Amino acid sequence: MGTIADGTERDGGYLRLENICKRYGDTAAADGVTLSVPRGCFLSLLGESGSGKTTLLRVIAGFEKPDCGRVYIGGRDVTDAPPSERGCRTVFQDLALFPHMSAAGNIAFVLRAGKRLCADGQYRRMSAAEARAEAERALAETGLAGMGSRKISTLSGGEKQRVAIARALASGADVMLLDEPFSSLDAVTRAGLRALLADLHARTPVTFVYVTHDREDAMRMSDRVAVLSGGRLLRCASPEEVYRDPQSAEAARLTGECGVLRAADGSEIFVRPEDVTFGSGEECVVTECAYGGGKYLITLLSPRGEVKAYSDREYAKGEKALFDIKSGSGGKAVKV
Ligand code: ADP
Ligand code: MG
Repeated sequence: MGTIADGTERDGGYLRLENICKRYGDTAAADGVTLSVPRGCFLSLLGESGSGKTTLLRVIAGFEKPDCGRVYIGGRDVTDAPPSERGCRTVFQDLALFPHMSAAGNIAFVLRAGKRLCADGQYRRMSAAEARAEAERALAETGLAGMGSRKISTLSGGEKQRVAIARALASGADVMLLDEPFSSLDAVTRAGLRALLADLHARTPVTFVYVTHDREDAMRMSDRVAVLSGGRLLRCASPEEVYRDPQSAEAARLTGECGVLRAADGSEIFVRPEDVTFGSGEECVVTECAYGGGKYLITLLSPRGEVKAYSDREYAKGEKALFDIKSGSGGKAVKV
């Protein structure tokens, strides 16, 4: 296993991917992905279904070997290291819990599977009582204090998620990998789990890699958002940077509502709805008006392209209007 001596310090990258490629037949699931995030970062991999998010997560975890490229964790080249030697723990979509075991039993089972550093400073296999105590502690961290004896099959979807997260925490994950973990849960349960991850993120030095196709999830929770499309990394930056300067029409579309207009010089600029005003400016026609969250999202067609705008009042389809772009906002060029 190769080591780059100053890998972590050199570019602040605790988790670093260098030119990761992975093909399945004719499909490029990862197409030259390079990114780097500091320790304790909450990174989201955002993209539509089939964009290569799971592939990248599996390459980081070590379940998938890339065709080319390197994976570094904590400055160590782990590309050829097995999953167990990467300090990564994956919370799988199907959670991979033993249904007939208790919540604490699931965690203790993993804790006792190998030697680990115990409270007495010894590197040895934990006793059943130690593992149980450790499991209960982890469950308390995820809001399941006192529920260790409950069988997995008697827990709700959200509670099972918490057990899976507690297990990853208890097993000492430096990097926690989550693949669309909350996609099958109702909105209220999801909100609770998001809050749990935010809390763990604030309290622990764990680096999170969170796979999602939900842009709100990605934008709200992350320090960095990596936008993927067709196996390519379009943009990796803070939510604000990605939103304000997506650099490609595709990344703009994936990170929020937007429109694209042709500029006088033939280039294309993207415009977010909050930067569009009504009443003066260019002529357009309303092609869509959808109500949501106390305001209307209006789609406007102008000779220069299509933009979206927010409005307090409803517009009829086909209604003519005048729109303008707030000065100093949006208007950044994008590649189409
Ligand atoms: P996402 O998680 O963003 O939905 P994936 O990483 O699962 O995307 O898949 C990216 C592309 O690679 C898809 O076109 C998918 O069909 C393909 N793919 C992923 N895994 C395999 C595999 N084991 N065999 C063949 N094709 C695969
Ligand atoms: Mg996936």
